[in-house]
This record gives sequence, structure tokens and C-alpha cells, in this order.
Amino acid sequence: MNRILGKKVEGASGPLIILLGGVHGNEDTGVHSIINVFRTIEERKIPIKGKLIGLIGNVRAYDKGIRFLDYDLNRCWTEEFVEDLKANHIPELAKAEDIELLDLLMEIEQLVKTYDTGQLKILADLHATSSDNGNFIVIPEDEADQPVIQSLRLPIIIDLEKYLNGTLLEYMHHRGFISFAFEGGLIGSDRALNLHTSGIWEILYSAGMVERRHDHEFAKYDQIMDSFIHKLPHKVSVLYRHKVKRKDCFKMRPGYHNFMAVKKGEAVADDIKGEIIIKKDGMIFMPLYQELGDDGFFVVKEIEGRL
Ligand SMILES: [Zn+2]
Repeated sequence: MNRILGKKVEGASGPLIILLGGVHGNEDTGVHSIINVFRTIEERKIPIKGKLIGLIGNVRAYDKGIRFLDYDLNRCWTEEFVEDLKANHIPELAKAEDIELLDLLMEIEQLVKTYDTGQLKILADLHATSSDNGNFIVIPEDEADQPVIQSLRLPIIIDLEKYLNGTLLEYMHHRGFISFAFEGGLIGSDRALNLHTSGIWEILYSAGMVERRHDHEFAKYDQIMDSFIHKLPHKVSVLYRHKVKRKDCFKMRPGYHNFMAVKKGEAVADDIKGEIIIKKDGMIFMPLYQELGDDGFFVVKEIEGRL
């Protein structure tokens, strides 16, 4: 696959919006939803204001349908790592994700350079999860009140980046972007594809890129939201992270999904040392039901109810 999924520029003003899918190569719903949106814009000749681009994060992993080849492309965006890679890149010795990171960064830097209008810069990083009910937004804390974030009306996780080092959204946040991870739900599910597709339209609208009347997708987003909004928390904070290593043979017990209540003392998973017990009451978050990943699960608590 080509890294660029679509590109559209109209007028000299308006926001720069980067839609990113497949930073984890096995999460294809983001990529398909970006393709959907560009197709609709073309077919219905929907006018936009600003610059819209859709990119695949990890092309090599996406082509193979796996999360990553050598290392996780969403855990490596620390200033030191990126600077070191830029300065000491030796193509013959490069790992797959070294090349992916450098290519992606070059693409984004080029966009910023050629379209610096001083207006809103947004990066929506589309992901999907291996467990159900994985619909949420991850942001750097001070972005919670941004209209673009609010428009999605999904649970907002405000401090996950303290636990996940080197996420792309943190790196781009420091470069003036409103950047967030938009988790659409279960990998490969129609529901995730619909939520991502119609969610992108919400983003384009709230950023002032399109006018609402041009698309029916908004109704779809409302419908999807209505189907589960009452069960979801509004703003949550992380209490605990259970880190895993490959040799732990971590196995989540079946039946857990995001934002499901768990009690202190409950055994939620097993590894070579035995049962893994919850230490504090809360809600389970991102339980791991796939082989690759460093986080077994998180426990979160709601800090602000939905109005
Ligand atoms: Zn992901």
C-alpha cells in the first residue's frame, strides 16, 4: 500500500487535518474509514476548507496485517529516540519501524512546511482494540475542552500518556497539533468502521473544514452514539497499569471489556506466577486479547460524570 491514502487542498486558509490509520498494522478499520471519507468527498464533490490528508502509519506492518515488525510504532516517539534516529540512520542496519518512523515524520513535516497558515492543526490517530467496547479518545490532558475532542462525545482518557511512553500523539502535541488517539472499537468490526468513518466527519465539521449539510454521515454517528452513550463514562483517569513481558505468558480471562467494573480482589488474568488480582476498585481498560502488546490491562476511574 501507498502511505498516502488521500490528499485534498482547497483554498489558502482553513485547518490542516491529518488522518492517520494503521500505526498498528493489524488495525485496518482506520485505514478503511479514511478511504471511505475521501471517496465520499470525491463522489459528492463536497467542498472543503483547508488541507486534508490521510496517511498509513506503518505501511510495512499493514501490508502484512500485523501490529508491528520490529517494534511498536506508537511507543517510540520520544524526542531522544527520534533525534538519534534522524542523526544516526544507517539504511542497511535499519529496523522496519526505523524506516516507517522516518518516512512518516518526513511526510508530516513536509505538510506543515507547505501549509503553515497559522490555523488549527489536527492529527487524528485512528486505532482499534482487541477487546469489545473500545470506543474512547486518548489526549494530552490540556486538550479535553477542544471542540474537536468534545464533538466526538466519547470517553476521554486524560493521563494515559504518563503510562505509555513515546506515543505519536504526545510528540505531535509538542509540535502545536491538537492530537488524539481515536479508538473505534473492536478490530475488523463493522461498528468500529462505522464509528471511525462517521467520527471523521464530526472532526471535519467541528474543525470548520466541511459544512454539516453536505453529509448524511452525521446522522449515522448520532445513531451509533445513542446506542451506547449511557453506558460510557465521560472523563477517566488511570489508576493502575499491568505491564506484561512475553515470557510472563500473560492471559486475560475471557469476558472483560473496556469500562467494565472490577472489584478489589478479583482475579482477571493469569500468568506463569499465577492469578493476577485487581488491587483497587475501578473499571477495566484495554484488556489484552491479542498476542502482541506490552500492557495486559489498565484499571481506570471516572473523574467527571456525563452531564
Ligand atoms: Zn492501536
